[in-house]
Amino acid sequence: MHQPRIMQLYKTLESHFGFLDWWPGDSKAEIVVGAILTQSASWKNVEKAIANLKSKDMIDPKRIANADIKRLEQLVRPSGFYRQKARRLRGFMSYVVKRHGSLESMFSNDASPLRAELLSINGIGNETADSIALYAAEKPIFVIDAYTRRILGRVYGTKRYEKSECYDILQKEIEASIRKDVVLYKDFHAQFVELGKNCCRAKPLCGSCPLKRQCKYFKDLQQ
Ligand code: SF4
Repeated sequence: MHQPRIMQLYKTLESHFGFLDWWPGDSKAEIVVGAILTQSASWKNVEKAIANLKSKDMIDPKRIANADIKRLEQLVRPSGFYRQKARRLRGFMSYVVKRHGSLESMFSNDASPLRAELLSINGIGNETADSIALYAAEKPIFVIDAYTRRILGRVYGTKRYEKSECYDILQKEIEASIRKDVVLYKDFHAQFVELGKNCCRAKPLCGSCPLKRQCKYFKDLQQ
């Protein structure tokens, strides 16, 4: 993966969709809550759960850590898998409060140990840990999701990126190919999500895709 090529993808996407200013959230706590609730859920449903939590003034690590689990379940219910997510959310915030006192204190750690610590918390996998590290803690860690794997697999004509066990490999390749920049990493991931939602779906809509001239999958279709 060469720097000009991957950066060229970003430039094409950014000039098409514009700067996306993702991830939405009024606070670090809200971004963390969103990152946990969005596991296997559409963002629209996550927004409803966040609105419920906000209406009860619950976007707060200490309040979530001390919440009654049944009440928390009802508040996060729109995001699906609500029993599991309520426990995950409360478990995460309890860990933060007991171990660090606050998210800000936890996030003062360097990127690599912070990532390792996030991954050690129950229910936090690669994508959630990296979303929290990049968007809430503002560390230069590139987030890989299903859209990223699918788009790069098609653009570069390889199936290996689509395997979930290739998470670390793909992440290292991207991080080695572009400048270490939190703003760039945030927006690049957002561009992939936007492209995945609008064009590079399971059944791709290549005709309206800004990357079609750079994409091996599309070029192969033309032959
Ligand atoms: S041209 Fe088609 S396959 Fe390639 S990135 Fe765009 S939508 Fe996906």
